[in-house]
Amino acid sequence: MKIYRPDIYQKDVFSINYEKLKQKKIKVLIYDIDDTLIPSNETKVNEKTIKLIQKLKKDFKIFLLTNSPRFRSDKIKNQLDLECYSFSMKPFKYNLNKIMKNYDKKDVVLIGDRLLTDIKLANNYNIMSILVDPITNYNFILVKIMKKLKEEPLYRELEKKKILIRGRYYG
Ligand SMILES: [Mg+2]
Repeated sequence: MKIYRPDIYQKDVFSINYEKLKQKKIKVLIYDIDDTLIPSNETKVNEKTIKLIQKLKKDFKIFLLTNSPRFRSDKIKNQLDLECYSFSMKPFKYNLNKIMKNYDKKDVVLIGDRLLTDIKLANNYNIMSILVDPITNYNFILVKIMKKLKEEPLYRELEKKKILIRGRYYG
């Protein structure tokens, strides 16, 4: 169960203490796209998010790592002007391996909204993990089914064991 506990848990990408990450010598931020940076039913990145990413680029190397197909992720990557790995099939490591070829594990953090993909991948990989609450509850049908059948019971189990409680942010 510990594989699902993020190192840091915050409400959204704006609540993350990036100064603290800098102090911890984190050099690379890898963001999930859908419901982490933008609502999963939209393709336009809002101004606030664009500003945040622009500001963070001064201190960090930033990548996008998404399970979405390219026709969707390309639209987002272009607005943010970032390198993007699409169709990543997280929690599989294939695309993360490509990014990590150039970096040390201790320098990298992965930020996402899902336990079964983002957090599991980061923890399996031994890099720092940050969970944020999903921006929307809109999901493609397959994700919706996965959430209902797997993620929801997982959250309940984690909450029962007090490993992770939704809305109780830390780090
Ligand atoms: Mg997501």
